[in-house]
Amino acid sequence: MGQVTHQKSYSKIYRTWIAMLSRCRNPNDNNYKHYGARGIQVCERWYTFENFYEDMGDHPFYWAQIDRIDNEKGYSPDNCRWISAKENSRNRRTTKRHGGIVQQELIEKIGWTKNQFRWYAKRYGIDWILENFKADTLPLRYNMPVNKDEIIGKTFSKWYVLSFISYKRGEGNRYLCRCQCGLEKEVVGYYLRSGKSTGCHSCAYKRQKNKPNPKKPI
Ligand SMILES: [Zn+2]
Repeated sequence: MGQVTHQKSYSKIYRTWIAMLSRCRNPNDNNYKHYGARGIQVCERWYTFENFYEDMGDHPFYWAQIDRIDNEKGYSPDNCRWISAKENSRNRRTTKRHGGIVQQELIEKIGWTKNQFRWYAKRYGIDWILENFKADTLPLRYNMPVNKDEIIGKTFSKWYVLSFISYKRGEGNRYLCRCQCGLEKEVVGYYLRSGKSTGCHSCAYKRQKNKPNPKKPI
């Protein structure tokens, strides 16, 4: 690299420059196979740190990374810009995409957690998620805090919601509810809204018992 004459020899930008040269020019570099071996080169002007620094300057923000605008072209002033690490990972080939949308972006748009997304994807498949996302019929993330006040004082089948009790990870909000029969019990918010729980054990059971059995001959 020659002698170091500038004041930046221990700076972040200097290390960025060294790493860039290394992955393009040093076959022993761990990332060489993705850069130098693929023909990604550093322009001659940037063999000198001062020139590189003059063109790119310091990182505009801490997580900034150098992005090659055209992925097939090398490192040069006209093909490089600073982008956030997040954007950079979205441009990568290995990033998961569904229907042209990056998975992480899709999860953010839906408003689910990553685990909720995985659960639905495993159970119903990505196509189901995409279809319902477009039709805006996906179930909401059930532990969103806005639901807390909306739900209190409302009736869900035989339950009347009295108050909020607690939030439990993986389960969502729990509410104190009063059944039509007068019994008070803790019910998970998701069960109320989805209709999974319609009343206390004996009331919900009674309702089922009175349902006509379609298999039974009349
Ligand atoms: Zn009851």
